[in-house]
Amino acid sequence: MARYTGAVCRQCRREGKKLFLKGDRCYSDKCAIDERNKEKRKGAPGQHGQSRKKMSEYGMQLRAKQMTKKYYGVLEGQFHHYFEMAEKMQGKAGENLLVILESRLDNIVYRLGFAASRAQARQLVVHGHFTVNGRKVNIPSYLVKAGDTVAICDKSKATDSMKAIVEANDARPIPMWLEYNKDALSAKVSRLANREEIDIEVEEQLIVELYSK
Ligand code: SF4
Repeated sequence: MARYTGAVCRQCRREGKKLFLKGDRCYSDKCAIDERNKEKRKGAPGQHGQSRKKMSEYGMQLRAKQMTKKYYGVLEGQFHHYFEMAEKMQGKAGENLLVILESRLDNIVYRLGFAASRAQARQLVVHGHFTVNGRKVNIPSYLVKAGDTVAICDKSKATDSMKAIVEANDARPIPMWLEYNKDALSAKVSRLANREEIDIEVEEQLIVELYSK
């Protein structure tokens, strides 16, 4: 399946949840599904968006999977691969899946405020602006491990565009599992995330049920 290139806010409206796909706008009152605009934009997009009937069990499972894929910007094949990895790990497969998704390099870059959105983070990673343990990594799906250090490349740190991105996203709360060094513009992954620390509003068990059919 190809990557979605349409209006991104439409995807949030489809899921009825903020997926934070558009950078600054997502944190402002311009967000189409922000609480402040609740009355303006009710329901899913499209002609029949307002009149959708009660969802079936399969529908809920599918929506949970689709929403999680959109949130992290991951395509079906890779998402399924992560699920297979999650199943082989100890513990609950659904939680493991989210922990794996959180460990992606593009997500870490976003969480650290080195990009306005995960889509921008993916692009910046591809363009080689980040290192892991001192070595340049340009693969957005690279999975970091506990003990790794993610940093902006020295050359990129000095650019006006990177300075502007870091400054604009300075207020974003950084998860406890990332030890951020503001002076060095780097962070050590002290451990992998816990489910409680992952802010996506999804019942991950629904994804497990969907893939278990
Ligand atoms: Fe658009 Fe961001 Fe709001 Fe989603 S969260 S509707 S992408 S502004």
